[in-house]
Amino acid sequence: MRLLVVEDEVKTGDYLKQGLSEAGFQVSLARNGLDGHHLAMTELFDVIILDVMLPDVSGWRILQSIREVNKDVPVLFLSARDSVDDRVKGLELGADDYLIKPFAFSEVLARVRTLLRRGNAHKTEDILQVHDLKVNIQKRNVFRAEQRILLSNKEFSLLELLLRREGEVLPRSLIASQVWDMNFDSDTNVIDVAIRRLRSKVDDGFPVKLIHTVRGMGYKLEVITDEP
Ligand code: CA
Repeated sequence: MRLLVVEDEVKTGDYLKQGLSEAGFQVSLARNGLDGHHLAMTELFDVIILDVMLPDVSGWRILQSIREVNKDVPVLFLSARDSVDDRVKGLELGADDYLIKPFAFSEVLARVRTLLRRGNAHKTEDILQVHDLKVNIQKRNVFRAEQRILLSNKEFSLLELLLRREGEVLPRSLIASQVWDMNFDSDTNVIDVAIRRLRSKVDDGFPVKLIHTVRGMGYKLEVITDEP
């Protein structure tokens, strides 16, 4: 289970990272809002623990961005101020739970476990998600930034394979055997043509590109932003 902790206070961040790691979680710690925002947007986590008072990008802003691309990841926010307004705001923005600082570690752990259980409970559908691309395997539908994308059966299978092996370079021979159930014949360009069509449907018009050619090797799906 992967957790993201966004916390600028060094002691609290270290304490959370150490405790949660010891409890068996894989923990990424961001010490400022910018790094936290970047990680939340580019990697998948099972729970995000978000401090509200950050010096650069506020926790609220990060929470809004998260909810724009990912409706499902549970977010637990940490608020130093015991203010009802803060709590209401956080829950309105789509946080799932909150903790008021200072808190006992056992409390954090209990909340995280509850959020994970809750998350798994309503995960009845097999949904693959990377960045703002969301694929429902049962319903066979694909959305990018809430826009429906129509794919042929082969394109769908190809996208599913790329998503399930996110970040890995998949050689054409592997794609051929998995999607076309055939041995790869270097004379055919069926895979390249299908990739090109899939890429134009999935990536065209979006600043963040997901499907990439790795020259001489194959293809991979990975979040790569054009921005500097
Ligand atoms: Ca803080």
